Amino acid sequence: MTETAFGFQIEATDGKARTGVLRTPKGDIRTPAFMPVGTAATVKAMMPESVAATGADILLGNTYHLMLRPGAERVASLGGLHKFMNWNKPILTDSGGFQVMSLASLRKLTEDGVRFKSHIDGSEFHLTPERSMEIQRLLGSNIVMCFDECPALPADRQRIAESMRLSMRWAARSRAAFGDRPGYALFGIQQGGLEEDLRAESAAALSDIGFEGYAIGGLAVGEGQEAMFGVLDYAPGQLPADKPRYLMGVGKPDDIVGAVLRGVDMFDCVLPSRSGRTGQALTRTGAINIKNARHADDPNPLDEECTCPACSNYSRAYLHHVFKSGEIISSMLLTWHNLHYYQELMAGLRAAIARGQLREFVNRFYLLREK
Ligand SMILES: [Zn+2]
Repeated sequence: MTETAFGFQIEATDGKARTGVLRTPKGDIRTPAFMPVGTAATVKAMMPESVAATGADILLGNTYHLMLRPGAERVASLGGLHKFMNWNKPILTDSGGFQVMSLASLRKLTEDGVRFKSHIDGSEFHLTPERSMEIQRLLGSNIVMCFDECPALPADRQRIAESMRLSMRWAARSRAAFGDRPGYALFGIQQGGLEEDLRAESAAALSDIGFEGYAIGGLAVGEGQEAMFGVLDYAPGQLPADKPRYLMGVGKPDDIVGAVLRGVDMFDCVLPSRSGRTGQALTRTGAINIKNARHADDPNPLDEECTCPACSNYSRAYLHHVFKSGEIISSMLLTWHNLHYYQELMAGLRAAIARGQLREFVNRFYLLREK
């Protein structure tokens, strides 16, 4: 029996936008794809079968969280992350680099890697490109991300250039440490902040090393949508056209639509699940704050056209009540709705690109939100 190889096939394009399929031995990922975030081996408030029912083909797991607790070696000894969390479709893991920078304390960055203390119990860890590759292999991740470093914006050009070049050296070490693993993919991460020439230098360095896919990193870190779209006007075109392009940590529905228009294939964001726990529903007509008193007597669903369980079976009045009462079902229903909405949006984008009608789809997307 031959193992299915990892591969990416573009099936249709419309302008810069593409739709296709990313094939892995754990299943196909239809692109453009949205990956729900399962930080600590769970998408909060969701059973894995419910996440699959929303239409998700792939989940994201966080190396930083899992290495601290329960530990990568423990997950491996229990059969890997898929078995541990009962998710049998593809999993992408981040490298841990970004979250070390944003969550850990007492970080010490050197050429070798990063030394830091756990935000949970203060214990000391050393994360390097080699250790990040080992952790992601122990977890059983299907799509592994290069270990990189990303300065918060705004940062001066010198700092961005030095950081990007360090990340490119780490990308080469990640590639070497990843080794030969048929059916598994390693993605490089483009850096360079908002500087077009640094982004080009980073893309060239990554292409020289060669990866199964390429992420656009260092965006959605406080620069704003206009600046992000400014980079996305050129960054996807700097990366190899025949490989998947992944915009990390993005985003709001209109961020995703704008990025798909500019040629991005994959996304992840905590927004739909996090908003679900704070009483915010994301819908075709925009965000709805279920906390608002105007929903207390409303017998209508969140969105009468949505087919998710929250909209099919419950009123806004009920969702308002369970949120105000602090009931767990509030997080469950709103998270389910939000993830369902995101997957419907991705399905709509894929279908529109396949038909060559992306512009019409995007016009309708904006029109509904203005009502
Ligand atoms: Zn719904």
